[in-house]
Amino acid sequence: VTRVCVIGAGIVGCATAYALARSGVEVTLIDREAAPGQGTSLANGAQLSYSYVQPLASPQTLRALPAILLGRSAGLRFVPRLDVGQWSWALRFLWACRPGAADRGTTRLLELAAASRETLDAWLADEHWDVGFARLGKLVLCPDASTLRAQQAQVALQARLGCRQDVLSPVECTQREPALMRRQGPLAGGIWTADEAVVDPFLLSAAMVASLQRLGGRFIARCEVEGFERRGRQLPAVRTSLGHIEADTFVLAAGPQARALAAGLGVRLPIYPIKGYSVTLPFRRAERPTVSVTDLGAKTVFAPLADRLRVAAMAEIVGDDCTIPEERVQRMVASVEQTYPGLCDSSEPQPWAGLRPATPDSVPIVGRWEESNLFLNVGHGALGLTLAAGCASRLVRKILSLSVEGRRRQINDWAKVEHLN
Ligand SMILES: Cc1cc2nc3c(=O)[nH]c(=O)nc-3n(C[C@H](O)[C@H](O)[C@H](O)COP(=O)(O)OP(=O)(O)OC[C@H]3O[C@@H](n4cnc5c(N)ncnc54)[C@H](O)[C@@H]3O)c2cc1C
Repeated sequence: VTRVCVIGAGIVGCATAYALARSGVEVTLIDREAAPGQGTSLANGAQLSYSYVQPLASPQTLRALPAILLGRSAGLRFVPRLDVGQWSWALRFLWACRPGAADRGTTRLLELAAASRETLDAWLADEHWDVGFARLGKLVLCPDASTLRAQQAQVALQARLGCRQDVLSPVECTQREPALMRRQGPLAGGIWTADEAVVDPFLLSAAMVASLQRLGGRFIARCEVEGFERRGRQLPAVRTSLGHIEADTFVLAAGPQARALAAGLGVRLPIYPIKGYSVTLPFRRAERPTVSVTDLGAKTVFAPLADRLRVAAMAEIVGDDCTIPEERVQRMVASVEQTYPGLCDSSEPQPWAGLRPATPDSVPIVGRWEESNLFLNVGHGALGLTLAAGCASRLVRKILSLSVEGRRRQINDWAKVEHLN
């Protein structure tokens, strides 16, 4: 491989481009936006959630289906649309809810998450990026006994797969995080995972691009990919708003937009957007939360990021509309007040909405499109920040091994030619 062009500078594309540049490859990263990290990676939940990777499709989700369809679920909303893509995705999602499939998905995602943690730790040690990274640990709060029991079963499953997690009583929860002392609402107990971390997704994307450029790679902003030039299965170039860009290998990392771009090649990616929201609030007092918290009652995650609290919630299967209803913002602000009364200044919350590029079984698609020079790194759903480094390093290994194989084949062909001569 001499030249690789990565399409999409979200967290996944930035990690892929940076990993390629570290391996000595000539890389061009392109994005339609003016800067990296402006899509779903802009203001997400900021959690490196290495031990919380359970697929959204599960027997529990299936049991909650009537409430979801009636609009009575706190976390998940499904609004049916006249959209074949939504219905075929929803059917595959239901199939992925069968018993056993979710556990297999958890196993695969835990492996990927472990690889991701190892890779990102190595990159952070090498680069000293100032990106709000902190290994704070995560406390998951369970409002009632049945939620706690379900979490305990998950902890037992994950213990067999190498995760270290502790079950805490309500008192132990507030000892672990004193900022929860004045929390309102029922609490049956919690799960503590010491080695979870937080990082600002936008800062991390930007830092990766800066390092890519330092290593000799290029970042082209405001460059929208319109389609691919095609010669059989080989793609010699992409057509963009700035003209043709040629490369030996292309990587599609366009997040929720990957489905439409791949459709232009006749490739049907099983990706559908799942909308979610965040608000970011400045801290009012000097004392800050010391761990990241997930409240399973409110279905909300809280991540302390330097002088701000990032709050993320909700999963809506409603198409690719990114509007932010005021009611969602107020709901998240209210959950901050219930969890940490008086801690944040909620007068000017910074609201955001993003589209998780989700596959039906929550497992991302990382690999090569048939026998072509197009590679895919897409479909990271609710875990793109967590899995980006691991998926990038796996894909780079694949690209490099194929190029070694290609060179070997070429040498064999030359040998054959010499032999014939
Ligand atoms: C509310 C919410 C909370 C979340 N919280 C977490 C969390 O705590 N932890 C976690 O691990 N994950 C979290 N996620 C998921 C995570 O944000 C995503 O999985 C991740 O951002 C996907 O990254 P990506 O690079 O694939 O997509 P994106 O970040 O969307 O990047 C795709 C890029 O492709 C570009 N692009 C698209 N089309 C074109 C084109 N035609 N030409 C050129 N460029 C193009 C876009 O401009 C964009 O920059 C959350 C998501 C949401 C919505």
